[in-house]
Amino acid sequence: MLNGNICERTDIAIVGAGPAGLVAATCAARTGVKVSVFEEHGIIGLPTHCAGLVSIRGFKKLGFYPPSNVVLNKVRGAIFFSPSGHSFVVEGKKDQAYVLDRILYDQFLALKAEKAGAKIELACKVNDVFVNRNKVFIELVKGKREKIVTTKVLIDAEGVKSVISSRLGFSKPQSLLPAVQFEMENVEVYRDFVELYFGQKIAPGFFAWIIPTSDSSARVGLAAKSKPLNLLKKFLRSNKQVLNRFRKGKIVRVIGGTVITGGPISRTWDSRVLLVGDVAGQVKPTTGGGIVLGSLCSIIAGRVAGEFVRNDLPVSFLSNYEKTWRKLFGREFRSMKILRTLLNFLSDKTLDKLFLYISRYEFNEDLAKYGDMDFQYKTILRSLSNIKALAVAFLTLLSQLV
Ligand SMILES: Cc1cc2nc3c(=O)[nH]c(=O)nc-3n(C[C@H](O)[C@H](O)[C@H](O)COP(=O)(O)OP(=O)(O)OC[C@H]3O[C@@H](n4cnc5c(N)ncnc54)[C@H](O)[C@@H]3O)c2cc1C
Repeated sequence: MLNGNICERTDIAIVGAGPAGLVAATCAARTGVKVSVFEEHGIIGLPTHCAGLVSIRGFKKLGFYPPSNVVLNKVRGAIFFSPSGHSFVVEGKKDQAYVLDRILYDQFLALKAEKAGAKIELACKVNDVFVNRNKVFIELVKGKREKIVTTKVLIDAEGVKSVISSRLGFSKPQSLLPAVQFEMENVEVYRDFVELYFGQKIAPGFFAWIIPTSDSSARVGLAAKSKPLNLLKKFLRSNKQVLNRFRKGKIVRVIGGTVITGGPISRTWDSRVLLVGDVAGQVKPTTGGGIVLGSLCSIIAGRVAGEFVRNDLPVSFLSNYEKTWRKLFGREFRSMKILRTLLNFLSDKTLDKLFLYISRYEFNEDLAKYGDMDFQYKTILRSLSNIKALAVAFLTLLSQLV
């Protein structure tokens, strides 16, 4: 390994030009150091593997606000369906989330990174990495050419496949679910609402989603423990709420991907390496959404790495990345993981009862008032401190046992 000639030096090298890598690149470059991003594909944003639903509050926190051409639709709330069709609506007064063109969003982030001074090399795959006390050696392949780049810090944002991180001895994200999504036209949707369908027979371990992209088009997808394509076809063929509205629909694109529901891995930095985004498991275990929290962690990684290089600090300074993101978001990830475990444990019968209780006792109004798509800890806590919610949780769990 690593037989090529050293031909380049950089201060911070980033593997992968997805949202995590590009946000980290922008923040690192803003500190005035040399940043290089290596992306194996020839076009930023392709192949896509996302439903593109991102909360507006999340964007406000992030500061990487998408321009209007990137936003396909805005939604005000969500309709939740139980296995046998009980439903409740969580509705905000204003728009709550954007439905993004994910390709254009990633390209918008790439422009930002370049404007900040980062250099992005496309069609350039990181093949191997070797870390010693003073630097990191990166073996790259671009077409038929191989080259070696040295860097002071490596930020690994390679996404869920975790090839480089595994070689470096990091653990892989856990509880991975295969997912499939159809982009459909000529369908009837509720343009202001996403639809979420729960049930062990519909999507064991997760849920099915319908995300409207216009008055007559939508992303319809599903993640599950296995066979998501079969389950998605069955869902469209047989779900009473969906069947008639989607009967004449035309599938214009099919995408696949992997949803992470196990939360962050145990350690996200070592020596001169920081892991950000999906490779670090920085994804909400409840919904599989990784854009906001992964990018928030990437901001920290970019800044810490930039400061480390600019001020020539000891390697131990890089541990501030992990300390900071865990302090800010560790509790969020933990509480969402507990909720995901609980949801996975509930039978269809119990889910049906729970949905009925929620609509009957109008918890959905509380959820609309206090809920946050990204920061769910306070919502979970508020629900548990609510005596009605406790009674419901108790009854529901009790019914699970009998
Ligand atoms: C079906 C599905 C729907 C989703 N829907 C949503 C949603 O609605 N909202 C949301 O917030 N999240 C959603 N997510 C999650 C979201 O897509 C991810 O959390 C997000 O893309 C993670 O960003 P990332 O930069 O960490 O990784 P990625 O976006 O995967 O980017 C990694 C990049 O690294 C590159 N790369 C990998 N290995 C190498 C290498 N060796 N050399 C060079 N380049 C390399 C890849 O080509 C890729 O461009 C969804 C995921 C799936 C699967």
